[in-house]
Amino acid sequence: AEEVGYNYSLVGLEDVKLQKRYGDTHKGDYGKALIMAGSKNMTGAAHMCAKSAIKTGCGLVKLAVPQTIQQVLQSDLYEVITYGVEDENGIFSYKALDQLLKLIDESEVIAIGPGMTHNEDISRLVCEIVKNVDKPMVLDADALNALVGSLDVIKNKNVILTPHYGEMARLTGLKISEIKDNIFEVVKDFCEKYKVTLVLKGSKTIIGSKDGRIYINNTGNPGMATAGSGDVLTGMITAFLAQGFDAINAAVYGVFYHGKAGDIAKEHFGEYSMTATNIIEFISEAFKCGM
Ligand code: AMP
Ligand code: MG
Repeated sequence: AEEVGYNYSLVGLEDVKLQKRYGDTHKGDYGKALIMAGSKNMTGAAHMCAKSAIKTGCGLVKLAVPQTIQQVLQSDLYEVITYGVEDENGIFSYKALDQLLKLIDESEVIAIGPGMTHNEDISRLVCEIVKNVDKPMVLDADALNALVGSLDVIKNKNVILTPHYGEMARLTGLKISEIKDNIFEVVKDFCEKYKVTLVLKGSKTIIGSKDGRIYINNTGNPGMATAGSGDVLTGMITAFLAQGFDAINAAVYGVFYHGKAGDIAKEHFGEYSMTATNIIEFISEAFKCGM
């Protein structure tokens, strides 16, 4: 990575080279991921996150959703195993805890958050899982909302948090303007305090490693300011983790190729009309740049 100051680097193509797969492999070599996502009004978030993880090369993706919406997801996600867990009106219930812990036990990497919605029960559920699980985890969207006020549970855990500015403001109690004015310090302080990997999403996404190193991403475009874009990123980072990347590399690779796929989607559909689904469609083209 190009050094742009002490401990700051710009991510370039040379930092995200992709290896050819060995001939003698099977899907177990590319990881088992469990994604917890979705609610009755946000089935698409779960769908796009799981699809993105598959398109990024994860060996096996399991998707745990509120049981009310399992069928609608299963009917359209051929490569994914879906599980319906106990819910209340199509929203995850705390009563699903044991079912989820069992699924987590059978997985290597966990992602939590897209489209779950936010309530007291989900806060308790997410905090309990994060407290009890020691596997690599990606925490996004409503998993971040669930952690507001209970951030101590992430300390020293192998987690990647992927907030946009609004979520970061809720997590830290800072104003969005305060974050924007001191973006590098805010990321660095957060990472050093909690010893976690942070992906602060914006027009230039900033990635902080747990030792406080900062990476600045340059791919992506304003066409990506569209519903579901972040859910795609979560699936991609999860897939890199599942394939054996450590947290900081999974985050850097995920953010870079998410932006690259977005740039290719823009060439085809333009900034106004490109959708999150289009970003998923072009993950494969984006990967050709790194091979
Ligand atoms: P979310 O808000 O969770 O849906 O995430 C939005 C995703 O799109 C993040 O990965 C952002 O970095 C990306 N994104 C949004 N707006 C822009 C932009 N103007 N330029 C580049 N990337 C963007
Ligand atoms: Mg989001």
